[in-house]
Amino acid sequence: MSAAPARLLGVVGAGTIGSGIAQLAAQSGARTLVFDVAEGAAERAVERARAGIAKLAAKDRFDGDPDEAAARLQVVGALEDLADCELVIEAIPERLELKHELFERLSALAPRAVLASNTSSLPITTIARAATDTSRVVGMHFFNPPPLMALVEVVAGVDTSEEALALARATGEAMGRRVIDAADGPGFLVNRCNRPFGLEALRLLQERIADVETIDAIVRAAGFPMGPFELQDLVGIDVGFEVSRSFYEQSFGEPRWRPSPLSARMIAAGRLGRKTGRGWYRYEHGRIVRPPDPQPAAAAEPKGLVVISGFLPVADELRERAAEAGWEVDEHSGAEVPWLILECGPRDPDAPPLQGAPRALLCAEGPLHALDPGGSSAGFHALSPIGMVELTRTADTSAPAAERTEAFFASLGLPTVWVGDAPGLVLGRIVAQLVNECAFALTEGVGGAQDIDAGMVLGLNHPRGPLEWADLVGLDHIVMILDGLREEYGEERYRAAPLLRRIPAFHEHDH
Ligand code: NAD
Repeated sequence: MSAAPARLLGVVGAGTIGSGIAQLAAQSGARTLVFDVAEGAAERAVERARAGIAKLAAKDRFDGDPDEAAARLQVVGALEDLADCELVIEAIPERLELKHELFERLSALAPRAVLASNTSSLPITTIARAATDTSRVVGMHFFNPPPLMALVEVVAGVDTSEEALALARATGEAMGRRVIDAADGPGFLVNRCNRPFGLEALRLLQERIADVETIDAIVRAAGFPMGPFELQDLVGIDVGFEVSRSFYEQSFGEPRWRPSPLSARMIAAGRLGRKTGRGWYRYEHGRIVRPPDPQPAAAAEPKGLVVISGFLPVADELRERAAEAGWEVDEHSGAEVPWLILECGPRDPDAPPLQGAPRALLCAEGPLHALDPGGSSAGFHALSPIGMVELTRTADTSAPAAERTEAFFASLGLPTVWVGDAPGLVLGRIVAQLVNECAFALTEGVGGAQDIDAGMVLGLNHPRGPLEWADLVGLDHIVMILDGLREEYGEERYRAAPLLRRIPAFHEHDH
């Protein structure tokens, strides 16, 4: 159903998010009335919104007349002043009793208005209970800071009417946001699909596969603007932990969503992140203290023949890069003894065995100790397109295998880092669980495939959405890692969503 955007819009709660929403509302052409209970807060929010508009105009990035847009913003002194609004968006603190009181009053004061909540974690259906007409309550979830994050999730509660949804969508679009539909469940669409980003990183840390700085560096090298631990510090470890608890409780104990005891320990120590000057990192004068990211070692010269087996995209990329770097590359062993053999996942069972040279195995369908029990191979893992290569070893890994593996990747100009042994190592495990979560969300009808990818990119600045990841790295690579994790840990947390085994269905899944 298409609808016109709201022309008279109220914003209640003019803090961090409310002021950004007010700016977008004025930009969309709506007269925007801003209310806050705290003395002077609405005035400051309107000032910030006008400054935001002026900044865009100064950069020539404002469509229309900036003065007119600024003039559309108005502070109001009482909720009663919102009586004629078509749409009221609330961004007051995340406490159910506050939202209930507000929705009850707005129901009486503005009987025709659609009431939108910007809640991140409270169910829209629960908030709506306090409204006289629950069909007019909808979720409009903006991302921080709204003027920079081009996304809004529109969330339907159990009773939300098509009219209310259409008004919310049209208004979001008039604000220049990409509007995606999300079901009313924990984290809606985007925050739900992103659960593994933090939680899998915490598991990797708990198992001491890698330390905080290394995990973050690996994730940044894959194109994410921030590592999971820097992000937790920014959000507040206490805030993130509460979100995790709420997911776990709302799902009655989904193992993928179990909060980490490491977060609880940080909270007990008062290390809450940036705001306390200490979290996973130390902060000096507001700046993060961390080591420089690993760089490629001085490039070694190619030493002749390298055998790179396997059909996964990462194998194709390695063969291509090796040839470009001057290696002689083959997929199979021949008469000549290679300098190094890289086995990238399962091989044709009829092909002759790869042996006679030091080997490195891609740790996807299992950890190195299971892929080469008691053997001398080194392990590695990367996803295509390769940013950094993770290396691993067991007590039996031979020095030549470890040294040659490291030297080979250096010859391709790729940075390497040593981590502990596990299926998918660090990045593979995080990305596999991101894709898995997205597949569960699709199955459960939480949102559409294209909306998930757009949401992760526009709402969270991921380099690409989970479906695009799956396309690039190969869905079979993702399933190998998940099955490897399930086998290794025996935990339901790593069960692969059944949709992932129905490849065409996964690709075609959408509303
Ligand atoms: P904030 O604390 O910065 O702002 C809240 C504002 O609401 C304050 O100015 C406060 O004075 C005002 N307020 C409190 N009670 C009020 C009432 N009864 N009536 C009118 N005004 C009232 O909070 P925020 O970070 O902007 O978050 C607001 C909402 O947005 C929350 O529901 C939060 O979950 C959600 N949200 C926040 C973010 C984020 O990153 N900050 C992102 C998405 C959604």
